[in-house]
Amino acid sequence: MITHVLGYPRIGANREIKKACERYWSGKITRDELVEAGRRQRQYNWGVQKEAGIDMVPVNDFSFYDHILDMAFAVDAIPRRFQVLKELDPMDLYFAMARGYQQGGHDIIPMEMTKWFDTNYHYIVPEFTSDQTFTSHSHKMVREYREGKEYGFEPKPVMIGPVSFLLLGKEKDVGFSRLDLISRLLPVYREMLADLQQAGAQWVQLDEPFLSLDLDDKTRDVYRQVYQQLHAALPSLKLMITSFFEGLHDNTSLAVSLPVQGLHLDLVSDPQQLDNVLASAPENLNLSLGLIDGRNVWKNDLEQSLQMTQKALEQKKPEQLFIAPSSSLLHVPYDLELEKDEDHLPSEIKNWLAFARQKVHEVKTLAGLANPATHHQYKSALANNRQAIQSRGKSERIHKQSVQERMDGVNPDMTTRKHPFPERHQKQANQLHLPQYPTTTIGSFPQTSQVRKVRRQYRRGEITRGEYEQHLRRLIAQAIRQQEEIGLDVLVHGEFERNDMVEYFGEQLEGFAFTQNGWVQSYGTRGVKPPIIFGDVERKKPMTVEWSSYAQSLTDHWVKGMLTGPVTLLQWSFARDDQPRHATAHQIALAIRDEVADLEQAGIKLIQIDEPAFREGLPLRKKYWPQYLQWAVKAFRIASSGVNDDTQIHTHMCYSEFNDIIEHIADLDADVITIETSRSQMELLEAFGDYQYPNEIGPGVYDIHSPRVPSASEMENLLKKAVKVIPKQQIWVNPDCGLKTRKWDEALPALQNMVKAAKDLRR
Ligand code: GLN
Ligand code: ZN
Repeated sequence: MITHVLGYPRIGANREIKKACERYWSGKITRDELVEAGRRQRQYNWGVQKEAGIDMVPVNDFSFYDHILDMAFAVDAIPRRFQVLKELDPMDLYFAMARGYQQGGHDIIPMEMTKWFDTNYHYIVPEFTSDQTFTSHSHKMVREYREGKEYGFEPKPVMIGPVSFLLLGKEKDVGFSRLDLISRLLPVYREMLADLQQAGAQWVQLDEPFLSLDLDDKTRDVYRQVYQQLHAALPSLKLMITSFFEGLHDNTSLAVSLPVQGLHLDLVSDPQQLDNVLASAPENLNLSLGLIDGRNVWKNDLEQSLQMTQKALEQKKPEQLFIAPSSSLLHVPYDLELEKDEDHLPSEIKNWLAFARQKVHEVKTLAGLANPATHHQYKSALANNRQAIQSRGKSERIHKQSVQERMDGVNPDMTTRKHPFPERHQKQANQLHLPQYPTTTIGSFPQTSQVRKVRRQYRRGEITRGEYEQHLRRLIAQAIRQQEEIGLDVLVHGEFERNDMVEYFGEQLEGFAFTQNGWVQSYGTRGVKPPIIFGDVERKKPMTVEWSSYAQSLTDHWVKGMLTGPVTLLQWSFARDDQPRHATAHQIALAIRDEVADLEQAGIKLIQIDEPAFREGLPLRKKYWPQYLQWAVKAFRIASSGVNDDTQIHTHMCYSEFNDIIEHIADLDADVITIETSRSQMELLEAFGDYQYPNEIGPGVYDIHSPRVPSASEMENLLKKAVKVIPKQQIWVNPDCGLKTRKWDEALPALQNMVKAAKDLRR
């Protein structure tokens, strides 16, 4: 069997590329130095894969910012507003497209960015117009092919496939569908592929992740035509098409019938599809078995994977089968060996994990084991693997009787408030005495350099816990005073104790582990270090009560407690793969439920449970939506339903597409939901209006993503729009999201204007 890798992480094991780009942007290094950093990184990545013995190492998976932007650049899909920069060095034009350009009298907004399928990676969205043209610029891919060849291996160039490239983009004017541009795009792909073949490439990998999604007949037709034409034009170039993040399902017969040499399957997301594909694939189609999880951090169960390879071997010759990770390794950290701190990541847990480097070796080991001629060489690796898998299966770190018992005890009473909203609403009104159009914020206040410095000092042990907490109390007191002066109705403590809304809770919950260097690219030079949920989740002691109570003790106004919800904690972590996601979500929900109870006990009357990741948890295939929505709603309700009627539960979601899930949002039965609406000029409120959403809503009136300070009349106008679709007694007044990333001198005037808008409207 042939081993290959779909793509390797590219920010650098120690974030070398992130640092080089940022230094280049700030003028600290030259373009040549940046280019050299890229070359070094590629060689490092190739070195790891070569050393592991991978047969087909990918090239052109490297990117200084994003691989979809690379393709937009390669086919010359450069939006018109950047044409004035055509004289710039291409590198600078490229970065301008990603980051915007404000120099020399220009003020050009960057291209949009959005989530890469259901991952936390964000790609740059290609922009298309009805008069769109494309031209071929294959130098990057050809250069990287040659570079790899010189480095001493036969490289496999990788790029996004033409159909997926169009589907990932967005129409920027009317009267056309982007898929219709295929007739203009295809000749350009043909040219680029011909250039690669000319340079010597034998295999090229075309990523077509949309094959894993719901497709209409038109798109399926386009797929057929595109690959027939490419095959006709370049009959001797071997194309490997990849699907990933889901199974092929009803696209199976389409995928196996495309005239290409290889088809990659994500057998981690959907192991069942192997049978269907083996049954329907033509005899000469090579199959790539994506058996090593490309987007999670667990060691592969080699014995189980081996059974899958055996099954494939019953139908295919070994030389027709490829072993691979399920997707690009972009979504996992570089190297487990960089984790050296026992306190962060105990060696027992480390022994259950595999990051990119380790996964590459797993690919090789699996192929070695599947081959009778080399099986014996890998026997000890198999034994070690079996031992690790078994130790994980029975470790006391993972399985907790107490958690199991609580999970078994979840009953319908625990997921239902004591009374329906109308009754709660009355009791809350009698107790809270809030004015019409109550004003509040979403939770965080500016994380100034002072806040970050104090936290750093505490982490490094330069100040004691007592000193750190003293600082935090001072910041909370200041924030309370500011909010009183502004005249907000419901106050928050400001979240100064939190570096991150997931990390803060994860660090205090049992069952979560943290890496020191487990960076994963989020977008461009931004990385995240997701926690690893390895075991049953349990709360040891209150996590936020001290801060909320302290804030409440300083003021006569109500202070809103602030928690991250179970779905978001799960979604932004590496999740367990030894139990279903819903089980983990419900365990977390029970821990949050306890925190809610303790806040209520401490006299906090409004408690917000943030669920910004609720929507992005939706499965890629629509048929799985109902299942997800059912357990996700239940998780929120487990967390929030334990309180008395007069305790007001808030939730927050920072996005705007609710149309297709509005009934499930209503089903959360939060007393108040705050959402993002200001950028869309309240458009999205329509979903709530049409549905006659029964509970209270705070449509964001202030876009916190920009330093701009909106005027009171602007916000009042937005509210007037809201009043047209939502009854006014249901409306709250608040920003779109937390103010963490703003400066105080932006946030203060904006909040003053916001309060004025509410007061004017009341009058
Ligand atoms: N309470 C959080 C904050 O204000 C919510 C952040 C979010 O929704 N992403 O920062
Ligand atoms: Zn938000």
